[in-house]
Amino acid sequence: MTKRSPLWHPQSPTINPESGAARDALALDDGFGMACDILVKGGLVAVPTETVYGLAADATNAEAIARIYAAKNRPSFNPLISHLPSLAAATQHGIFNADALALAKAFWPGPMTLVVAKRADSPIAALTSAGLDTVALRVPDAPLMRALAYATGKPLAAPSANRSGRVSPTTAEHVREELSDRIDLIADLGPCKVGVESSVILCVDDAPATLLRPGGLSTRAIEAILKRPLARAGTNDKTPSSPGMTSSHYAPSVPVRLNAVKVEAGEALIAFGPALPENADRAVDMINLSETGDSFEAAQKLFAAMRTLDRPDVRGIAVAPIPNEGLGEAINDRLRRAAF
Ligand code: AMP
Ligand code: MG
Repeated sequence: MTKRSPLWHPQSPTINPESGAARDALALDDGFGMACDILVKGGLVAVPTETVYGLAADATNAEAIARIYAAKNRPSFNPLISHLPSLAAATQHGIFNADALALAKAFWPGPMTLVVAKRADSPIAALTSAGLDTVALRVPDAPLMRALAYATGKPLAAPSANRSGRVSPTTAEHVREELSDRIDLIADLGPCKVGVESSVILCVDDAPATLLRPGGLSTRAIEAILKRPLARAGTNDKTPSSPGMTSSHYAPSVPVRLNAVKVEAGEALIAFGPALPENADRAVDMINLSETGDSFEAAQKLFAAMRTLDRPDVRGIAVAPIPNEGLGEAINDRLRRAAF
């Protein structure tokens, strides 16, 4: 018999988590303390939002984020949405231009995600944003998710709580069927209200606000706030197109060479495992994703390693072969896109 995650029925799910009274009420709920404890220690908690049940983890902890990918069996790394208790908390992680501020004030808390430039001092892990210069932030209309983010002081990354390739869960029972043996706690608040994912809008620099994914918020409502049409990704030469902008794939500016058995002149090396490629000692720089060959550890370091080696004194990045086991498939998927 497989282990089943405990179900927690929160007692005070509908009160404002930022108010002192709500904190006292939640503090009386043993499950709340347990959930906070699990999150702060890097564990996984399924938490409903108004859209779908999310698989929440501390967005600043790369190990916890790698655990999300392992639980979901996800064969690729996509940037994840970080959930915050308030706009004030969100501005600690992202740079809000005028559009982003107007939209946040109009629609948060709600089913809208803003992709904004990542602040240099934001502790959100590179794995959470898949190495991009942007972060996806949302203040959900889900007091429990906000209360957990508030009480832990952590942005909570939360993709849908289903295995890869399956539909997003809108009840705790769906989560149990899909992931029960892989997560530490499931908060059961019954069915979600909206049932579709959040609308995702890119707001960077002075580029027009761009719809990346339609979702729970209507385009018309968004345009009423912007007072002009919402741009669609890639449809207009003013919409941002460089990697890290509309693209959800990070790619270094220097060439990436996969399955390298030998390091060429001027190359830096991303190694994996104890055996190094030929000429490893001649690499401009070397980062070993995991000396023991552990794909879970490697996933945590992948994007930070690419970013560290993407610099003018490096002619290209040679990457040692990485087996497709565990998170290896997702790592190889990202490396292939980076090499493209
Ligand atoms: P999910 O967590 O499954 O709801 O998906 C998150 C959505 O947000 C995906 O469509 C991502 O591609 C998108 N997203 C998250 N972060 C970024 C980002 N930094 N740049 C572009 N798209 C993003
Ligand atoms: Mg999903």
